[in-house]
Amino acid sequence: MRDARLELVQGDITKVEADALVNAANSSLLGGGGVDGAIHRAAGRELLEECRDLRGCPTGEARITQGYKLRARHVIHTVGPRWQGGGRGEAGQLARCYQSVFALVEKHGLRTVAFPSISTGMYGYPIEKASRIALREIQAALERLPQVEKVTVVLFTPGDLEVYRRALAGEPEPA
Ligand code: ADP
Repeated sequence: MRDARLELVQGDITKVEADALVNAANSSLLGGGGVDGAIHRAAGRELLEECRDLRGCPTGEARITQGYKLRARHVIHTVGPRWQGGGRGEAGQLARCYQSVFALVEKHGLRTVAFPSISTGMYGYPIEKASRIALREIQAALERLPQVEKVTVVLFTPGDLEVYRRALAGEPEPA
């Protein structure tokens, strides 16, 4: 059964109001391109300063900071795997990103969270595969965490939104 607390939207995650936005960061946590660059630009320099003190983050883990100029109180930075063909533990690492984010959501008592599609940009993870992992992990976390009121997955393009919609509807991954 689909959980009514899960929402898929198309748009720019930096504009979303939530207790926390999730950032698809790289292991330096010092900003980069894609959604990471957009979040740092919108949050302002103070975010970079706080990130510097964190001294990086390994793949699959997550770190929390304030949101500064964003409409989100916090940013949860997680480092997704780079796609290397699928035989290097990428699926497990991607699932761990979502689990690590929700461990922080639970610890900090957050109620609303927005995710981008982790690893499916520059890191090259095929979105058909990544969407199914993301939705499975989000739905498992929602079952476990009654405190969470809303999880929004913010897809940057209409095409990405369509992939996530089909995955959520239970359609199998295209061959
Ligand atoms: P990664 O390195 O984890 O692949 P990217 O930022 O390159 O991270 O891409 C992750 C996803 O975020 C991609 O689907 C990309 O289209 C999307 N994205 C880029 N900018 C934004 C934004 N402002 N809001 C939401 N999603 C975004």
